[in-house]
Amino acid sequence: MNRRGFGCALCALAALAAMRAAGGQTSPEFVRPGHRPPPDTDEGGLWSVMDRAERDLRTSRFVVRDRALNAYLREVVCRLGKDHCPDLRLYVVRTPQFNASMAPNGMMQVWTGLLLRCVDEAQLAAILGHEMGHYLRRHSLERFRDARDKSNFGAFLSLGLAVAGAGIAGVIANLALLASTFAYSREQEHEADRIGLELMASAGYARIAAAEVWEQLIAELAAGTVERSQNVLLATHPDPEERLGALRAAAARAGGAEERGIERYRAGLAGVREQIVRDELSLRQYGRSEVVFDRLLAQAPGDGLLWYGKGEVYRLRAESGDPARAMEAYARALETRAAPPDTHRSIVMVELKQGNKERAQAALDAYLKAKPEAPDAGALRMLLEQ
Ligand SMILES: [Zn+2]
Repeated sequence: MNRRGFGCALCALAALAAMRAAGGQTSPEFVRPGHRPPPDTDEGGLWSVMDRAERDLRTSRFVVRDRALNAYLREVVCRLGKDHCPDLRLYVVRTPQFNASMAPNGMMQVWTGLLLRCVDEAQLAAILGHEMGHYLRRHSLERFRDARDKSNFGAFLSLGLAVAGAGIAGVIANLALLASTFAYSREQEHEADRIGLELMASAGYARIAAAEVWEQLIAELAAGTVERSQNVLLATHPDPEERLGALRAAAARAGGAEERGIERYRAGLAGVREQIVRDELSLRQYGRSEVVFDRLLAQAPGDGLLWYGKGEVYRLRAESGDPARAMEAYARALETRAAPPDTHRSIVMVELKQGNKERAQAALDAYLKAKPEAPDAGALRMLLEQ
């Protein structure tokens, strides 16, 4: 399918939904472009809460303000959202976890841990498209009304608080809680998946990317040291395994354009990738980080930053055999001729720990050549003189 228009994709979806509604099922209604609910309605109330949360978010020190990145992400949002693009605002939040969320007022969040884990624009589009699905069908409002009607508001809130408690950055977790407005139902998830795939198709993206994203997350959780219950995205998006099958089947039926956008994605993230890799390492969850770097390296074996990250996993973990693994990864990083200068610094540390002073000195020389203004030059020299 070409980029003919989200409008048409929506027509088809709306028609489909209308048929279902005729059968007594879901309502066909999508949010209209430019929609703003009257303030004296429940929806208006929900929006005003989200507007307040968004004002806080806008000034948060966790928001990544890299211009090139934000301009790039805006393009992807508009390519998917088309007529709805002016109603959507995407914030990149510096948190090394896999999460994205969409508030009913059009405030979207993508956490940097998610950006690290996508291999290309199609995978990012799969997530954004899914989140837009929640927005277009007003799923948060549905959940809100459902909870209220069941006089279940206390449980609704405490569910949200449980999600907040799981986050690693309290403030951001609270925002995420507000923004995602609690767990969606299984039906809503399936609907968001379907709409996301339609948006992807309409924008010309490879739909198989939607299944890949969940496969990757499941693999990471299986290898990692973190409980599933602590994953914020899973807390609001239950049953990924169940949805995988449907997503794969839908992709298999897909035709038309199959764009991946690997190069565009890498270029868009260029200004923040090193920081994102460091943030991932700062969690010291080596099992999952190893899975992430290995997977990304399988796609991009010439990526010096990723080899450096993999080396850091082993250096920091420092279990039996890890120093050798770290050195091997650093060597691969240096081979790419695109390794961060800190690769040399890490080699200094590993060699010193092994008692190889001469090699540590050589690595220090290389480090200072690559980073003449290194603020830790003096400290490293002292370490070597001991
Ligand atoms: Zn969802």
